[in-house]
Amino acid sequence: MSDSPNRRSPLLNVDSDGLAWVTFADPDRRLNVLDEEVMARLSRHVDELRGQADRVRAVVFWSGKPDSFVAGADVDAIAELEGPQDAEEKSLLGQRIFRAIEELPMPTVCAVHGICLGGGVELALACRHRVASTHEKTKFGLPEVQLGLLPGWGGTTRLPRLVGLQAALDLVLTGRTISASKARRIGFLTRTYPPEGFRDSVRTFALEMSELPPGSSRKTRSARDRLLEGNPVGRSLVYRTARSKVLKETGGHYPAPLLILDVLRATFPGPLDRAFAREANAFGELAATSVHRHLLHLFRLREAAKKLPAIRAEAGDVDRLGVLGAGVMGGGVAQLAASNDLEVRMRDIRDEAVSGGLAHARSLFRKRVERRRMTEAEAERKMEFIVGGLDLHLVANVDLLVEAVVERMDVKKQVLAEVEGVMRPDAIITTNTSSLSVQEMSGALARPERFCGLHFFNPVHRMPLVEIIRTSDTSDETVATVHALSLRLGKVPVVCRDGPGFLVNRILGPYLNEAGWLLSEGVSIEAIDAVALDFGMPMGPIRLLDEVGIDIARHAGDTLHSAFGERMAPAPVLASLDGSQRLGRKNGSGFYRYEGGKDKGVDDSVYVEIGVAPGADVDPAEIRRRLVLAMINEAARILDEGIVGSAGDVDLGMIMGTGFPPFRGGLLRFADEQHPRTLLERLRALEDVFGTRFEPAPALVRAAEENRLFYDLFPSDPPR
Ligand code: NAD
Repeated sequence: MSDSPNRRSPLLNVDSDGLAWVTFADPDRRLNVLDEEVMARLSRHVDELRGQADRVRAVVFWSGKPDSFVAGADVDAIAELEGPQDAEEKSLLGQRIFRAIEELPMPTVCAVHGICLGGGVELALACRHRVASTHEKTKFGLPEVQLGLLPGWGGTTRLPRLVGLQAALDLVLTGRTISASKARRIGFLTRTYPPEGFRDSVRTFALEMSELPPGSSRKTRSARDRLLEGNPVGRSLVYRTARSKVLKETGGHYPAPLLILDVLRATFPGPLDRAFAREANAFGELAATSVHRHLLHLFRLREAAKKLPAIRAEAGDVDRLGVLGAGVMGGGVAQLAASNDLEVRMRDIRDEAVSGGLAHARSLFRKRVERRRMTEAEAERKMEFIVGGLDLHLVANVDLLVEAVVERMDVKKQVLAEVEGVMRPDAIITTNTSSLSVQEMSGALARPERFCGLHFFNPVHRMPLVEIIRTSDTSDETVATVHALSLRLGKVPVVCRDGPGFLVNRILGPYLNEAGWLLSEGVSIEAIDAVALDFGMPMGPIRLLDEVGIDIARHAGDTLHSAFGERMAPAPVLASLDGSQRLGRKNGSGFYRYEGGKDKGVDDSVYVEIGVAPGADVDPAEIRRRLVLAMINEAARILDEGIVGSAGDVDLGMIMGTGFPPFRGGLLRFADEQHPRTLLERLRALEDVFGTRFEPAPALVRAAEENRLFYDLFPSDPPR
């Protein structure tokens, strides 16, 4: 294959010390990626180097990008794999190139500064030595499993042979990233150096290694690891433990981690040739699964959410964030912002709330220290970003404000107008309301164009989604700024129009209510929740009611009911809990019982309170159909109303906001695979029995009648 004129990555230079520098610096991409062209050039360089043992003392692979090494293989190329054989062949090809690196006669050093993922790690594994900078951006990970694949360029085979089985499984089965210091601890890295003068350190190291006799660098693993893994019985225990952990965490819905375990069990330890062949074969097998396709789809949705194609305005800078209200959400937002190095000014009207908000933030940092995700000193430094107090002028000079006071329209309007009066005219104000009209609130402001909703989910530090709610007055610049801030906070933003429940809570409404209807018919709590879990939801709807708070969920349900009428009428058993002391997990008493925060199973006394005798025998397939169709039908209405722009937005929102199973690719991707025609038939049948709440949404009827899919009717890149 020929190079395009301006693609010259990687470059090969041999310096006057006899060190060969293979430099990845793709001018066409923000991050270096190992696409076909780059791999072909790499392969040619390796061929060239092979015959130069007399001239070249050592080879260094490194990156010319300021703060990244190699981000992995090319996702577009992965998407174009044509079936299992093609995928297996591509895997074998990559393996051959990396084996050629491994077999070079001179020492090879992979020198990493910045992010190093997937194929980048596999390249590093093929080198004799690995060194890295201790910069906080230097991270290592094998994220293939998150795309439903395994590392297929030798990574699955080489990693356990280098760092031991348990450390390898921890990375390969989860796809998580680790810091340079952790990578050094597990024996992946030979050395780490400060980022300043990194290249000089690498040069010295490479020259040093070129003096050593070959084979003198193999590291030894810790005695404990060797004890456990060094014999078949120990390894078998490791595999069994890992397998049950995978099954527990994934419900068995994801083939990749299970196949990775099978591959390793069959090939580790053992001859490399056999292991590489099995790895490539498994890669081919996984590339042909629907789960892989769905996860790849999700990856692309996430990438697309980082851009705002329809908006031309530039995002403004946000360095200082104001937070109004230091409660559950305010404290969480303050901590999130501080952990991303933003200065925070948090204001409440009660002294104890301010201390509570600060304590909440501090406890979240402490947990990160306990998990060794940050040092004590770092946590202290981050906490210093947050200043809390009672004076309104505390937030006078912030760039952007998040209002998170009590959920009452009159209070919010008054608070927003008051705060706008003291803030800079160019500052942006957002509200974290979950159920009130953002449009109505904006009426209280003198500068409604600089106002929108920014809806975080609880708990803020853990839930990846934010909904950005624009009103008819919100300017593009405001949306662009809030969007950029969301990304900086590590969140996945979805831009919505205003409407009751916005995107996620609107779809959850009928789903939770349907669970209530099933309960009213005498279906047991266990039976309902089991169906949802089996479908892949992270928890069942009844348990979700407990988590959200039964009172809060009822309030949200009422908002939807008054907005949309009869089809959202609350299920009788849910309405019967109004005013009850059964609030859910927060007070230890819900549909489930909790003791000291621990779940003690279904609380049978709830059946008496709601006047239901459980035991109705409803087919699980019927339960599932009702729960899932309730969501799909609402999503179709949301699209017609223009609450979000595309089917992809719905799917990203539901996966990131509710944990809708990623392996299904999203709610509407699932709907499309069933086909709108089939869904329409089912909805009509349900409508015959249950009436208006299953009345098919117009968009769904249209899709069915025109024989089209949701992704086709509401494409991700709507024409502008
Ligand atoms: P909370 O009751 O825990 O905290 C609200 C805080 O606002 C209190 O500390 C109160 O003293 C303070 N406050 C009241 N008036 C104020 C004023 N004039 N100035 C400054 N502070 C004032 O409530 P929360 O759960 O954190 O919810 C806050 C907002 O976030 C609400 O709009 C809610 O709908 C929304 N929200 C909540 C959740 C959740 O699960 N809790 C999730 C998403 C969004």
